[in-house]
Amino acid sequence: MKKIVVANWKMNPETMREAKKLALETKKLAGKLRSTTIIACVPNVFLTELASGRPSTRLLWGAQDVSGKEGTGAFTGEVSAKLLQYAGAQFAIIGHSERRALGESDEVVNSKIKLALAARLRVIICIGESERDESGDYLRPLREQLKQAFRGLAKNDLKKVIVAYEPVWAVGREATRSDTPAEFLHHALFIRKTISDLFDAKTAMQVPVLYGGSVDSKNAEGFLKEGRADGLLIGRASLKPEEFKKILYVAEH
Ligand code: PEP
Repeated sequence: MKKIVVANWKMNPETMREAKKLALETKKLAGKLRSTTIIACVPNVFLTELASGRPSTRLLWGAQDVSGKEGTGAFTGEVSAKLLQYAGAQFAIIGHSERRALGESDEVVNSKIKLALAARLRVIICIGESERDESGDYLRPLREQLKQAFRGLAKNDLKKVIVAYEPVWAVGREATRSDTPAEFLHHALFIRKTISDLFDAKTAMQVPVLYGGSVDSKNAEGFLKEGRADGLLIGRASLKPEEFKKILYVAEH
């Protein structure tokens, strides 16, 4: 199965000039790929410019969020899924922990997913627990996040969905550690079982399940091989072409 590597640039880089440079480096890396696809989720202001180049099947473009508001209207500062699609996005990350930390509820995540799908975007849904306890209680909120995210979706919609398992404590600069490949494997199975309960086993097997949280060139192999991840969601390391290149090499081999 092809591997998916999502590059989440977050609120980086600082200027269009730097964004173009990073995009060019990412394009060069993508040009060498055979069995891996990069989805670069970039700040909205860079999207039109970066996504307007020659289309490639190895480098696709995405947004990091969509508005929960539909259509047009008096929603100052909001950017709808449709506008992002016009801007060149093919994907949107939805429910990232950094957005949930700003107060985004499961209900809002669900409506954003529906709006993104209606705008012909494919969605990368992020789920993950904030704390891990020994008794396994944290699995309940994970299941709930999935259940709420998929509320009102048809089986067919799941063809356009990727799930990224990102334990909140493993994401970003504040992270203390990444998950382990063995734990990820366990969680990926749990995610598939939940999707299977909500839809069916065939649907559950079709949904790519990625790992995200402090991935670097040293731990990527573990998640892809031992953890059998369908891909990775990468923040910081996607901004460093040399490091990103090493991760892509692992995904290819
Ligand atoms: C992320 O942006 O979702 C992420 C996993 O970030 P990082 O790789 O920097 O932990």
